[in-house]
Amino acid sequence: MSRADLAREIGLTKVTVSAVVAELIDEGIIIDIGPDDRPGVPGKRPTLLTLCEDHRRIVAVDLTREGRLSGAVMTLTGESMDRRRLETLLCLGPEGVDELTNFCQELIAASATPVLGVGVATPGLVSPDNNTVRAPKRGWSDLPLEGILTERLNLPVAVGNDANCAALGEFAFGATEGSYVLSILVGDGVGAGLVVDGSIVPGPKGGAGEVAHVTATVNGDGAPWGTPTTCVCGRSGCLGTLLSEPELREALKGLDEAASEAWLRAVGQRLGAILAPIVAVLDLSDIVLAGPTDLLDGPLLEAAHDSLRERVWPSMNPIPRLAMSAIEDRAPLVGAGVLVLSRTLGIP
Ligand SMILES: [Zn+2]
Repeated sequence: MSRADLAREIGLTKVTVSAVVAELIDEGIIIDIGPDDRPGVPGKRPTLLTLCEDHRRIVAVDLTREGRLSGAVMTLTGESMDRRRLETLLCLGPEGVDELTNFCQELIAASATPVLGVGVATPGLVSPDNNTVRAPKRGWSDLPLEGILTERLNLPVAVGNDANCAALGEFAFGATEGSYVLSILVGDGVGAGLVVDGSIVPGPKGGAGEVAHVTATVNGDGAPWGTPTTCVCGRSGCLGTLLSEPELREALKGLDEAASEAWLRAVGQRLGAILAPIVAVLDLSDIVLAGPTDLLDGPLLEAAHDSLRERVWPSMNPIPRLAMSAIEDRAPLVGAGVLVLSRTLGIP
């Protein structure tokens, strides 16, 4: 963009924009890429500016998978330069924080360019007030993770719920069509993240998108599983007991092709039923499913779509684009990177 484009876009005067641009060029955050040679630009050709990708890198870490640390050094435009995985079982409690710190330090050291900040996508609730993390599976209860890592790494750190990070990643770097995005993350559990008008909606207590324990099936609803399974929450028939990866894999064991397909369709149908009121309330543009493609992409996704179509009135609630993630398991990771961009540079 030229300085004039920026002034128009931001709504500031050209003088102010020029002053800020000069500062950002001095800091090496943006660079001058020469005159605008696009056809159809009349008169004197303005100088174009762009983000200097090589100025800083972002370190992003994803703790979505049980006992596995996944991280990357990324450019400011979300391209992974260096991706690493730690397959060892992540310790619970404070030791897990130590392991996470070491992993971040390793990634920071791997970057030849100074690091702008570190983003972490974690399971559990991240309180929007004080950024403490409550993740029983990690043995973390009201853990001030952001503060601890900021102090240890001596860099800006942004910690977000993994499903929220995934939604942000889908919005910023996925194949989404609009800016009202619900992202459903299927892994060891089920989580959802919501981006409305381009911003994460964490909810006042950080619980927005926690759909795993919404009742999805009841006794006698004709489902192939018969009596609904009891959930860790003490109730039965929760969405998580149907849709999470370990439960789905276990359920499909030993079923023939037709029975497997019927099972997946039944799960997809319940998912669609849960999505319908969300679509009607928020007028979503996109619903993105991230998780094991062999389970989700096929009868399950088709049935979710059919069930959604049966339940909402398309002339009032157009059916959103419902698709598998184009960035797959990278979504929480790149989303954690976007969190750093938005905290430090105000992007997007
Ligand atoms: Zn439950």
